[in-house]
Amino acid sequence: MAAVKGSCLCGKVEYEVEDPQTLAYCHCTRCQRWTGSSLAGVVIPKENFHFTKGEELVTRYESEFAPRNFCSNCGSSIYDDLGENYFVAAGLMQDLDLTPSFHMQVAYKANWHDIGGDAPQYAEMPG
Ligand SMILES: [Zn+2]
Ligand SMILES: [Zn+2]
Repeated sequence: MAAVKGSCLCGKVEYEVEDPQTLAYCHCTRCQRWTGSSLAGVVIPKENFHFTKGEELVTRYESEFAPRNFCSNCGSSIYDDLGENYFVAAGLMQDLDLTPSFHMQVAYKANWHDIGGDAPQYAEMPG
């Protein structure tokens, strides 16, 4: 895919993601708490992520393993900072059109979450 735009719930923060290719679900308990469910996101090199509006509203929470970045006005989850890569929440990108590549941290998924589809499921990290 070419560049895809994302926007938070209040619309004050906007960003662009270049060339997203991998859509994954993380079922860890940190993502569950952060989003209210599993986190569906695209994994991209951090240089492929650019804010186009409202970067000053973005707040970082130093969560264990991966700091969380969110809109301080509306609370929308924007991205999870994995270091070299960002895990960017898919729900903010209305034009994103990718088939899920895999589910990770499935060992920690919510009891009520019934995972469907054919994407591979990994108990912890893929590979
Ligand atoms: Zn917002
Ligand atoms: Zn997670």
